[in-house]
Amino acid sequence: MTNIFPELLIPETLAAGPGPGNTDPRVLAAFSNAGLADHMQADVLRGMIECKMMLRAIWGTKNVYTYGVGGTGFSGLDCLLSAILPGDTVVAFTNGTFSGIDALTIRMKAATREELRANPMDPKPASVTVVTVPHGQSVTEEIVERVLAEKKPKWAFMAHWETGSGRINDLKGFSDACLRHGALGLIDAVSSLGVDDFSIDDYPGVVGWASCPQKGVLCLPLTYAPVSFSDRYIEEVRTSGCQTYVHHPILEARHWGIIDGKDAAAGAYHRTHSGYAVAAFHEALRINLQQGRAAKARDYAHHEQALRQAVTAMGCEVTSNMTSLVVLNLPKELAGREKELVQACRAKGFGIWPTLSEPVQVRIGILNQLSEAAITDIVGRFAVAMNDMGAGVNTEEITEGLRHHYKMTMAAE
Ligand SMILES: *Cc1c(COP(=O)(O)O)cnc(C)c1O
Repeated sequence: MTNIFPELLIPETLAAGPGPGNTDPRVLAAFSNAGLADHMQADVLRGMIECKMMLRAIWGTKNVYTYGVGGTGFSGLDCLLSAILPGDTVVAFTNGTFSGIDALTIRMKAATREELRANPMDPKPASVTVVTVPHGQSVTEEIVERVLAEKKPKWAFMAHWETGSGRINDLKGFSDACLRHGALGLIDAVSSLGVDDFSIDDYPGVVGWASCPQKGVLCLPLTYAPVSFSDRYIEEVRTSGCQTYVHHPILEARHWGIIDGKDAAAGAYHRTHSGYAVAAFHEALRINLQQGRAAKARDYAHHEQALRQAVTAMGCEVTSNMTSLVVLNLPKELAGREKELVQACRAKGFGIWPTLSEPVQVRIGILNQLSEAAITDIVGRFAVAMNDMGAGVNTEEITEGLRHHYKMTMAAE
């Protein structure tokens, strides 16, 4: 017997976590207003070329190989890391959940056949060094310099912003150390693109970058993970190859009109792209450019400060320094009840998150919540949830403090 379930209805929630962020109605409208067109139709191909050009502007790069990989952040990262072949020497710096998963991908790709068979789900290849920086701390130039000088690897890897612990890692220090020691730098920029104000071309030690659709770019309706590769990276793939068709950094670029290292008049078939996804991605990139990279970065910093001071006033301790997210410890009386608090919030459609690896902390994000009203709503809901657990927070005082903070910081600007 076949069961037909009732139509799936997914409620609207306040997505106040590390990602995804609330999608702009313009992006959703672009998705649903697109006509049914195949992946070789002229406007779909033109849209992909325009996306590629807007992406280069948003990411501050002349890299020809800048485009989107269909899927989520880890799809883009799989493409980025596909140039790592069995036996390659790699140093990966990790400081939280996501760079930890990236390091697993790297270990899977760099493992020899024997090393993979020895531990198929969690290989430990001799050619890969994973440097674990404790949760809550950043990867610094000093750490990168020390290990690259010692190991002289072919590849080096780091997350720019580690969303698991909410920490910003030293991108310039990483890039400089890669240049000094001849390592090819690879960066997970999933959380920083669309939030931070930075240009790829200022970091010549980094040859490959990957981001995602759902965080700073704000294009969840499953679209594209932006990637960008320097000529040096592409040369490496051209010379040594890589073991994937779908996520092949050179072949995947063809559909975006990047053929033989140059911009072509139109793309060539690689796999079936969705006109809906292309239209949505195109609109999200337009919004990013209209808001402006520097202005958006300033807005995130401004509102993160407001949220940070409000949760601190509630007795929480913030350990993060990213501007799209605060990662915090609850006051002593509530320590150990982080997951319970997060569950209670989520049950009411207030989508905050715990950390996904130890230690357990609470993560509150502000993707696409860049207004005093939105931050006040988030702070109010969090205060209620803390009080439901007996925290005894004076909500009026907290709201008044937040109002005062906004008034003072507005006046100072
Ligand atoms: C969210 C995130 C990922 C994974 O992205 P998905 O879209 O879930 O595949 C990888 N790295 C970092 C730093 C992230 O923040």
